[in-house]
Amino acid sequence: MIAQNREILEDRIRRACERAGRERDEICIVAVSKTFAVERIREAMDAGFRDFGENYVQELEEKRSKLGHDPRWHFVGHLQTNKVKYIAGYVHLIHSVDNFRLAQEIQKRAEKATRTVDVLVEVHTTGEATKYGVLPDRTEELVRQIAGLDRVRVHGLMTMGPFSDDPNDSRPSFRRLSDLKRRIEDQGIPMSHLSMGMTHDFEVAIEEGATILRIGTAIFGERKKKERTI
Ligand SMILES: *Cc1c(COP(=O)(O)O)cnc(C)c1O
Repeated sequence: MIAQNREILEDRIRRACERAGRERDEICIVAVSKTFAVERIREAMDAGFRDFGENYVQELEEKRSKLGHDPRWHFVGHLQTNKVKYIAGYVHLIHSVDNFRLAQEIQKRAEKATRTVDVLVEVHTTGEATKYGVLPDRTEELVRQIAGLDRVRVHGLMTMGPFSDDPNDSRPSFRRLSDLKRRIEDQGIPMSHLSMGMTHDFEVAIEEGATILRIGTAIFGERKKKERTI
């Protein structure tokens, strides 16, 4: 089933790329596997997925203990400072750094693990009260602060669109993120990635410049509990 879902997803991604005049290989998919069992992740790996996203540290730890480091583990949820120590030694990319204290903790734990941790800065682009993320006009400052840490590398920005069934409602958010990235690059700080777009709005995200899509439902099917916000 996941292999079939992948074909359908790939088709939609290819078409969105064509519409946007972009190349398919500019875009990578993080398969968001939260709430799904390791068997499903194995199935997804067999179908060709390599990058997996989780949003709870404990759940990620359990899955990693069973699947090891063959999947590249992305952390896409809200990350508490006191949980950084569990994942800093192996996480492939943290999408959700939104304050400097968290970045400093990642620096500390990365040092201990003698590695560098790759991160994205999560930006709050919707004005909705329930979302995490740094405000757009504080983003450049946070990126600059993190750039001063030698074991934390910022590769770009991440955001979530608003709660809405209409994918077009995500466009202003995605455009804001894309503009921010450009502005920061104009200041001499290179940023290669925009992590934006989920199952319901990834086509709009592609049109607006996404390089990383975080896709759960379109790959694994509906989740039992709805927990889109975390
Ligand atoms: C759950 C989740 C996704 C994937 O959501 P789908 O709508 O199932 O594609 C993407 N990003 C984050 C941060 C998530 O928590």
